[in-house]
Amino acid sequence: MTPAMSPPAPAAPTAPPAQAFLPFTRPSIDEATIEGVAQVLRSGWITSGPQVKAFEAKLSEYFGGRPVRAFNSGTCTMEIALRIAGVGPGDEVITTPLSWVATSNVALEVGARPVFVDIDPVTRNIDLRAVEAAVTPRTRAVIPVDLAGLPVDRDRLYALAHRLGLRVVEDAAQSFGSTWKGRRIGSFGDFTSVSFHANKNITTTEGGCLVLNSEAEARLAEQYRLQGVVRTGFDGMDVEVVGGKFNMTDVAARVGLGQLPHLEAFTEKRRVLARAYYEELSRPDAAALGLGLPVADFEQSNWHMFQVQLPDGRLRGGRAALMGALHAAGIGTGVHYPVIHLFTLYRAMGWKEGDFPHAENAGRNLLTLPLFPAMQRSDVERVVAALVAAVPPLQAP
Ligand SMILES: *Cc1c(COP(=O)(O)O)cnc(C)c1O
Repeated sequence: MTPAMSPPAPAAPTAPPAQAFLPFTRPSIDEATIEGVAQVLRSGWITSGPQVKAFEAKLSEYFGGRPVRAFNSGTCTMEIALRIAGVGPGDEVITTPLSWVATSNVALEVGARPVFVDIDPVTRNIDLRAVEAAVTPRTRAVIPVDLAGLPVDRDRLYALAHRLGLRVVEDAAQSFGSTWKGRRIGSFGDFTSVSFHANKNITTTEGGCLVLNSEAEARLAEQYRLQGVVRTGFDGMDVEVVGGKFNMTDVAARVGLGQLPHLEAFTEKRRVLARAYYEELSRPDAAALGLGLPVADFEQSNWHMFQVQLPDGRLRGGRAALMGALHAAGIGTGVHYPVIHLFTLYRAMGWKEGDFPHAENAGRNLLTLPLFPAMQRSDVERVVAALVAAVPPLQAP
């Protein structure tokens, strides 16, 4: 090489290809559904109409022929179920403090008193022995929650409800697609409430449905859904109860009709990814993190979420620092949920720290990892590698 030769041009800077941010969940909506929504928008009928009727019929088929009505949220379906059950002022409703706050807000909404009991730390669902211990002469209903899609023991739940004469409003917001001993959640039991919020296993953007016990209950649900209105003939209208504004639009129902056929495949994909998490998290470097894993139910759960329990009080900077580090690594995580009884509204009713130790521990330490049908195994590997890199060394217990 002669000095006159110009040095080779420096190589173009090659940054590693940027990896897309991985959120903790994301809906999968196919092009046919998007086209179907466009057709509804062009049809001239965009609020409750033929699409809602068709969606309700498909849902009823799914739930073994039980009556089903669609609404604009999952929350209102629980409120309406309580109203149909006649739950109101002076009544108590037993539920779990480890849930989305809607679960107990609906009891307050109808004028009843929510009564919290602790969770089972293994399943993270309501402890049914604690339910039994909390029953008083005022107890009218129980709202169990299938957290992350893991079903509450339906045999014990209904044995208890029948023995004590309690109504059950199953908060199955997260367990659409889950089963109990081979039977679909919602195809048996008392009321079943499902949410189709954007983050749920199938979505209508916002929405929900209520599975009921009889056509009479379903008619009442329709009244509570829309201002209490009952129409007859071409011009007849009456109002018998105070209803709200809870009807689902045809636009939303069309999204749901496009989602339903994918339910089984979505559930299967979630199970495959959950298994992948188990495998990756059991490698020695990941196992050393001391994370608490969810119940390994690959039969019944729809794996709405994959939640790990962080070692209590042994992470420097706590959960928030870990979430920040994962976010910086392009990974979204979630917190489901801060316990309800320690919110200001509920503390004012008398609940305090230490009331429900298992739920409080879970509320402080559960972390929801990314899990949605469009993910790949490589995404799971990436999450676990980022966890291994981000979890600071454990301090001595
Ligand atoms: C999503 C959810 C709800 C409420 O559903 P919305 O459709 O958002 O009203 C209630 N309970 C639980 C456990 C949920 O996850």
